[in-house]
Amino acid sequence: MSRLVIAVDGTSGSGKSSTSRGVADRLGLRYLDTGAQFRAMTWWMLTHGVDVHDPAAVAAHADEPVIESGTDPLAPTITLDGADVATQIRSDEVNAAVSPVSTVPAVRRRLLALQRQIIDAAEDGIVVEGRDIGSVVWPQAQVKLYLSADAAARAERRAAEAGATDERSLKATRASLEARDVIDSGRATAPLVRADGAVHVDTTPHTLDEVVDLVLGLVAERVEKAEV
Ligand code: C5P
Repeated sequence: MSRLVIAVDGTSGSGKSSTSRGVADRLGLRYLDTGAQFRAMTWWMLTHGVDVHDPAAVAAHADEPVIESGTDPLAPTITLDGADVATQIRSDEVNAAVSPVSTVPAVRRRLLALQRQIIDAAEDGIVVEGRDIGSVVWPQAQVKLYLSADAAARAERRAAEAGATDERSLKATRASLEARDVIDSGRATAPLVRADGAVHVDTTPHTLDEVVDLVLGLVAERVEKAEV
């Protein structure tokens, strides 16, 4: 079997990142968080005075940010023009602006080229997470997953990560996740869809370890099939 590429798509907070990193670590693969790249692009627009709700303005600058992703699953990194922006890209401003920025075709074209370069360079194989990995970025991935979870469970996970689990924070987190889902699923270019051949996993009732084990089982099955 050729080197393994695993595509993990799904809604915000469905467990994509933890699952992808866990699987990559267990299998000795690299890991790419494409959401972090869209977030870094958005942070650049916000800090350079670009109106994120003006697609033409965003498109005019889409080639300018220098975005680099470190692909160690135990310590992924993201830099923008050489500076570490791991904290900034998780801010409320970015949460609110990233989906509109990600609808702009010039942004998607730019990041698609970057993503394919990184996948091409990952000689040991790679787990790639996002919204359009199995459908657009790497449709030839040997294993494709589509993760989902109930909105309440997703909000609880994200709020717990941010350390804010009171009723008001939960409500705000859920509203922010759902607003992004609507834009991500409805956009014209590369919307969030369950890709052809993707296995749907509803992570709501499962622990992270259970989901990782389930994915490892699927990978073993595919590899075995490819070898017989
Ligand atoms: O995965 P994460 O929630 O960090 O992604 C942030 C946003 O980036 C998504 O809501 C979506 O708008 C955009 N995105 C995308 N395509 C990807 C990955 C992320 O449009 N492959």
